[in-house]
Amino acid sequence: MYQAKAYSAASAVSPLAADVIVRREPTASDVQIKILYCGICHSDIHQVRNEWSGLPTVYPIVPGHEIVGKVTGVGAAVTQYQVGDLVGVGCLVDSDATCPECRAGFEQFCQNMTLTYNFPDKHLGGVTYGGYSESIVVDERFVLRIPSNLDPAAVAPLLCAGITTYSPMRHWGVSKGKKVGVVGLGGLGHMGVKFARAFGAHVVAFSSSPGKKEDAMRLGADEFVLSRNADEMQKHAGSFDFILDTVSADHDINTFIGLLRRDGNLTLVGAPDKPFAVYGFGLIFGRRSLSGSLIGGIAETQEMLNFCGEHNIVSDVEVIPIQKVNEAYERLLKSDVKYRFSIDMASLSR
Ligand code: NAP
Ligand code: ZN
Repeated sequence: MYQAKAYSAASAVSPLAADVIVRREPTASDVQIKILYCGICHSDIHQVRNEWSGLPTVYPIVPGHEIVGKVTGVGAAVTQYQVGDLVGVGCLVDSDATCPECRAGFEQFCQNMTLTYNFPDKHLGGVTYGGYSESIVVDERFVLRIPSNLDPAAVAPLLCAGITTYSPMRHWGVSKGKKVGVVGLGGLGHMGVKFARAFGAHVVAFSSSPGKKEDAMRLGADEFVLSRNADEMQKHAGSFDFILDTVSADHDINTFIGLLRRDGNLTLVGAPDKPFAVYGFGLIFGRRSLSGSLIGGIAETQEMLNFCGEHNIVSDVEVIPIQKVNEAYERLLKSDVKYRFSIDMASLSR
């Protein structure tokens, strides 16, 4: 075991503060990574503040699951990575590798998977600690290769925001000729717009923030709709093949279900804790469907990273030192970031 600098929160109402945590020495199959950048996902806020009833927070919590870093050590059995490689780690650090989900490449749905933080740590006991830290040790099966042509600070958010929007769009066949909506222009939403554009769809960005129109068009949207404007919404009734809802707070999804065409699908990736009220008639008329999606499997995450390398896709980031993380949380809650904070982890040793 060795010590690593980190930022943790001691309770749901405590600010994040400097801390020292323990990491395991790499086992035979482990990769040790010096963390360069870690994105701030809204899920970090949900969990630091214990907002998810289904996944109660264990304190202290070290959040962070959008990790990019350099390999500093490898176990004897590691074959895919060498010291010096630029690598990534997302929301998953382990799974049983034997169940039908794992064998199908859906490690995120494995009954025995381990999330990167706030999840039982089978090596050290307690819970796993995430990427707001100088170092992490991860089984090589959960380490991703980062395309060398992309800016590492802007790649970090791809490890969660990227795969969480890429995966459902692939699953639901977003492609040329399809009309696709992305609801909420935050960290996930702005990646959703970029991917839908890259897949050739006609992209409509739905936002509650009038000030985001110009950005939405720059990011690749063909149209912008202010979601609180009922007239603007009505113009799109019954016309969408697919809508991806990335909103982090309670909101009315029925207005979006009404915009789907026959057999259209609305997929939720945004994760407010409060249950949604769904008007059944909205689904029945038009045989529409409502579903959810959780990040993506490891092979698909690598596919997404390679796609981003080929198409030069990264997140729009504001790079901050770790000392500004509490301020960044407040700004994220006000939608005051374009469009993802990426923490420069070198700041930890200041
Ligand atoms: P974010 O950057 O804060 O973006 C959320 C966006 O939702 C905001 O930018 C805002 O967009 C919109 N919004 C916020 N409050 C709203 C309200 N009261 N009414 C309407 N719109 C509102 O968050 P994120 O990091 O993208 O994460 C979004 C959600 O996805 C979170 O709940 C997170 O936990 C979840 N998540 C899920 C997965 C998964 O695997 N399913 C993975 C990662 C994250 P506008 O200003 O454009 O309206
Ligand atoms: Zn996330």
